[in-house]
Amino acid sequence: MSIHQRVYAIRKQIEQAAISAGRDPKEILLCAATKMNDAAAVQQAIAAGVDCCGENRVQELKEKAALNAYAGKPVHFIGHLQTNKVKDVVGKVDLIQSVDSVRLLQAIEKEAARQGLVQSILLEINIASEASKSGFAPEELADILEQASKMEHIFVRGLMAIPPICQKKTENHKFFQKMCNLTVDITTKKYDNVSVDILSMGMSGDFEDAIACGSTMVRLGTAIFGARNYNQSPKG
Ligand SMILES: *Cc1c(COP(=O)(O)O)cnc(C)c1O
Repeated sequence: MSIHQRVYAIRKQIEQAAISAGRDPKEILLCAATKMNDAAAVQQAIAAGVDCCGENRVQELKEKAALNAYAGKPVHFIGHLQTNKVKDVVGKVDLIQSVDSVRLLQAIEKEAARQGLVQSILLEINIASEASKSGFAPEELADILEQASKMEHIFVRGLMAIPPICQKKTENHKFFQKMCNLTVDITTKKYDNVSVDILSMGMSGDFEDAIACGSTMVRLGTAIFGARNYNQSPKG
């Protein structure tokens, strides 16, 4: 199958999942997780109609941006961002989805202030409290939002999560549902510089479940581009 055919099929699945959940399919954005796929593949995905691209590594972002790979659609950063690489990402992407520490939040605020812009971000939540994953604990969120609301060069657009791959569907529903509840909690409180319209969750293996639980942005790699070849030397 071509990238075009895959994106077409995915759109149908998104539509079905949304309708089954009584939701408007237009509420759900399709983010192409482009890691390890080259600029030509990224351009094909954009031509096929994905809503945005998500890059994981700063080096890949720089290389593909130099080739105009993201021309025509917004690009997001979705990987773990080291504070010393913040200057390569702030102002260069439309959304940093993966803000996972106060230190990173502060570094982004500082760099955005230096550049004289406001950076949109999502807060990454470690929703299953996994030791192997970064992100804020759900209990921390209120305090983090309080801090972020005082940062004039940061605009919090919502939340992001990478829940564990679950064997049973009911298990991942629990995590997706928790994320949705968190989003509702924040929306009812009012913070400056915070507007919770994005809930980024769901990957190739579980995006329909994520949509059933309220996801507004699914991040798909394999489903769009096919399996990644980890034996090939990564580009960057
Ligand atoms: C790679 C990646 C995805 C997509 O994963 P697939 O299983 O290939 O769809 C989504 N989100 C993040 C943060 C990723 O790194």
